[in-house]
Amino acid sequence: MNVEGESRRGSEGSRPLIDDDLPLAPRQSSGDLAQQAAHVSEPETERTGRGPVLSVAGVLALVLGVVFLISSVAGPDDTNASAAAPMGAKDPGSRVDRLLATGTSLPRVSCDLPELGGDREALRAFYLAEIECLERAWRPVIEEADRPFSEVGLRLSDDPVTECGLLPPSTKVTALYCGANEMIYLPITRVLEGLDLNRSAHLATLAHEYGHHVQRMSGIMDRVNAELGTFEAGSSGDLELGRRFELQANCFAGLFLESAAGRGSISDTDAKAAVEDFHNWADSQTHGTRENQADWARKGFEEATVSACDTRSAAAPEVG
Ligand SMILES: [Zn+2]
Repeated sequence: MNVEGESRRGSEGSRPLIDDDLPLAPRQSSGDLAQQAAHVSEPETERTGRGPVLSVAGVLALVLGVVFLISSVAGPDDTNASAAAPMGAKDPGSRVDRLLATGTSLPRVSCDLPELGGDREALRAFYLAEIECLERAWRPVIEEADRPFSEVGLRLSDDPVTECGLLPPSTKVTALYCGANEMIYLPITRVLEGLDLNRSAHLATLAHEYGHHVQRMSGIMDRVNAELGTFEAGSSGDLELGRRFELQANCFAGLFLESAAGRGSISDTDAKAAVEDFHNWADSQTHGTRENQADWARKGFEEATVSACDTRSAAAPEVG
């Protein structure tokens, strides 16, 4: 697979998956993992702020190397890690749906983003500024849903060894979110190969990854993780649930882009281009068709209410 060729903007191809949510099986002893985590985190710490959601259980997951991720989004020839035990829903029941039930909209935000550049510091500055804006947009919604808000972490390292385990191959994954440590991983080399310096693509990708953090904070990720444990890995039910999860992150990205459109550093045109960028990702059993990937981002953008992102209740063709 020629990743570079297929990922370039303007080509007829499409990019590989936007993320795979780190389907990482335990591979090391706890001592090895801790050592590697320290090795990774010292030079590469971009942002490590974490709120109350990263509980003792979350730390324990890191130590034990427990997979706490939506494993069904693995590529077709990946080893699907669904067999790894979910950590269990920490908030099962009706409360996890409170975010969607609020029917609320994100507040209007004005993002102050620096120019996007191809070196590490420029990318870091751009992402941190977008995260700051994402937080302003999402914090009130999370709090209205009576869920604890937490800051997300950011790693830009190309190091395949992360605190969350080994990165999947670049041919399969461009960017990732790890629920166990509430960290967004944007390995610089693969992100630049996949997105070039297309600003809309970077805006959209980070908004999608942050959408997973919203799922984490809201309890949706826990619930889906627990539900995935009831399916055989790679089964149609397993894959469909994974798609509903991924497409919801696109919808959440659309909500954010709408909330920021026409203000500060994000014009209406910029926001709409970012929404349409979801059409550039590959058709995938784990993430949906290109049409559905774009449609859910558009739905969030156009309807501008959190309840529009109820992919769980959507008809099967809408999440195919
Ligand atoms: Zn995703």
